[in-house]
Amino acid sequence: MKDIADIRADFPILKREVYNKPLVYFDNGATTQKPQCVLDAVDEVYKSYNGNIHRGVHFLSDMSSEAYEQSREKVRSFINASKSQEIVFTSGTTGSINGIAFSFGESYINKGDEIILSRLEHHANIVPWQMMCERKGAVLRVIPINDKGEIILEEYYKLLSSKTKLVSVTQASNALGTILPLREIIAAAHSANVPVLVDGAQGIQHGIVDVNAMDVDFYVFSGHKIYGPNGIGVLYGKEKWLAELGPFQGGGDMVDKVTFEKTTYNELPFKFEAGTMNYPAAIGLAKALDYVSDIGREDIASREKELLSYATDRLADIKDLRIFGTSDHKISTISFHLKNIHQYDTGMILDKMGIAVRTGTHCAQPVMDRYGIDGTVRASLCFYNTKEEIDFLVKGIEKVKSMFA
Ligand code: PMP
Repeated sequence: MKDIADIRADFPILKREVYNKPLVYFDNGATTQKPQCVLDAVDEVYKSYNGNIHRGVHFLSDMSSEAYEQSREKVRSFINASKSQEIVFTSGTTGSINGIAFSFGESYINKGDEIILSRLEHHANIVPWQMMCERKGAVLRVIPINDKGEIILEEYYKLLSSKTKLVSVTQASNALGTILPLREIIAAAHSANVPVLVDGAQGIQHGIVDVNAMDVDFYVFSGHKIYGPNGIGVLYGKEKWLAELGPFQGGGDMVDKVTFEKTTYNELPFKFEAGTMNYPAAIGLAKALDYVSDIGREDIASREKELLSYATDRLADIKDLRIFGTSDHKISTISFHLKNIHQYDTGMILDKMGIAVRTGTHCAQPVMDRYGIDGTVRASLCFYNTKEEIDFLVKGIEKVKSMFA
């Protein structure tokens, strides 16, 4: 793997100081920082070939369209989808799930049907389904979790029934870090003829994702969590599903022929891309995927595993610190709580030391309710973090404790 100093040098923001202290960025679960090559790729679009895609016959539009379609192909190969028609660009994970919840609901859901989610879901994988259920008279069923923050598979198997129309689960919990047993979840759903959507917002950046090997029906993620720009996301769907589903937005580019009496839709994947897409961000995302591939996805996974193990050991040594999410299968995210100290106080004191952590419910209130807490402090690490930074976090936590002693 590339030397850590060289990796860090790729990310301009990591050089900055906050409150005259070096930035220690441990909020990668919320959004990752961007390497220079991604910033350059987006800049280059606006500086030298910006033209609206799929619209004009002119030089710039052609160039932008081609770069956008090459980005789609890059995403296809990154997640090993069979065809680029199966890759739809969206605004992000939230946009992708809302889209599928709408289209799937319209096509397949009737009164009394059931959708299975897990207790670990981010609000983005709860609320769109809830809205759809309200529209259609359908019901959400929830896979419970144990004290370690792992889903209870036996309970999932019991929930699957002839009423189940879809299973939608996260690849990894953003609040606790737990990695879900997707192989078992997908196999059981498929043996009951039920499709599965995987929310990859906290999965794609931590290792190799192969949608073909997973045999997943829908896989969604956000560009900004994998070192790409904001405002771009991906919706992968097996061709058979995308071909059957209706569009979730209407507008320019997603149509074939429009009259006031009737509109016919464009072919895949354009049927799902209404209006001017965020093509500069898609082009930036493709560059981010190149960057991650160049660093090496297996190397990223093993480095993050090492950082997780180091941080977990160091934090576990701190008296009165409780870690939430203690599964053996975790992404490099650690959620914790200090006895008798509110997470916002901890977060604010760490901030003044230059350490960026997330505090609160992490858009996963049902997870917090499961433990009867109103939030945690979350340090989400990634490959550009260092053990020295983790040591500094430990120092920060000790300082917080001494201030409240
Ligand atoms: N799902 C999970 C598991 C997430 O962690 C997040 C972002 N925190 C989302 C969905 C939503 O992603 P976005 O805000 O980029 O749409």
